[in-house]
Amino acid sequence: TAALEIRGLHKTYRNGFEALKGIDLTVAPGSFFALLGPNGAGKSTTIGIITSLINKTAGAVRVFGHDLDRELQEVKRSIGVVPQEFNFNTFEPVGEIVVNQAGYYGIARGEAWRRAQHYLGELGLWDKRRDMARTLSGGMKRRLMIARALVHEPRLLILDEPTAGVDIELRRSMWEFLQDVNRDGRSIILTTHYLEEAERLCRSIAIIDHGRIVENTTMKALLAQL
Ligand code: ADP
Ligand code: ADP
Repeated sequence: TAALEIRGLHKTYRNGFEALKGIDLTVAPGSFFALLGPNGAGKSTTIGIITSLINKTAGAVRVFGHDLDRELQEVKRSIGVVPQEFNFNTFEPVGEIVVNQAGYYGIARGEAWRRAQHYLGELGLWDKRRDMARTLSGGMKRRLMIARALVHEPRLLILDEPTAGVDIELRRSMWEFLQDVNRDGRSIILTTHYLEEAERLCRSIAIIDHGRIVENTTMKALLAQL
């Protein structure tokens, strides 16, 4: 089964704006997949629907065969998401943010701390576990959100513009980390408006523009036609 299958996805916002005009997308399991497009194309809207933060107007979404409408809990368990905006309580300690997230999935605190140590450690944040999240730099906050998204060990990791505003050195280390996550067998979908980022990381790519998929191919084939 596909990691993600989207059929005929439409989204019309309350003000009448049609952000998605019938999207079809299939992401194979194990993929490192880029959804590339300019600002306003519909990337965040698509991610928001998959992660059930935004209601769709029409269409079907399945994650590892689980239907978003009928099997929401299974879909949520299968996905870890790194949104564009920082959305954690900045007055909580870094370690607690990751451990409490594990709690939402019914993971016991001992096991949650073990996983927090693993993921925060890999991301260079374990020494910061007692610090308030608000004391972290922007790049550290981004890495904290990645650790938090992985703590329930989802099969699919979705990142919305993960390296926006991140300096080049940190960007490279985040790329390496994500490649390791993908090698561990997790599927990854990221949105970006940098072709370079997609090119560096992703074997498959879809290009979205004005709410439509205008290209859905391999990175190799795309680069050959440029
Ligand atoms: P991207 O992530 O590719 O930059 P978005 O999915 O955020 O694009 O937005 C797609 C389009 O939908 C944009 O034109 C944006 O202005 C519009 N949009 C986003 N959210 C809303 C909303 N809540 N109400 C109306 N229009 C919206
Ligand atoms: P708590 O009651 O939340 O466990 P503690 O006083 O034991 O609080 O711990 C203080 C801080 O130490 C916590 O906020 C957390 O950042 C960190 N911490 C707590 N338990 C662990 C653990 N098992 N492993 C690593 N760090 C921990």
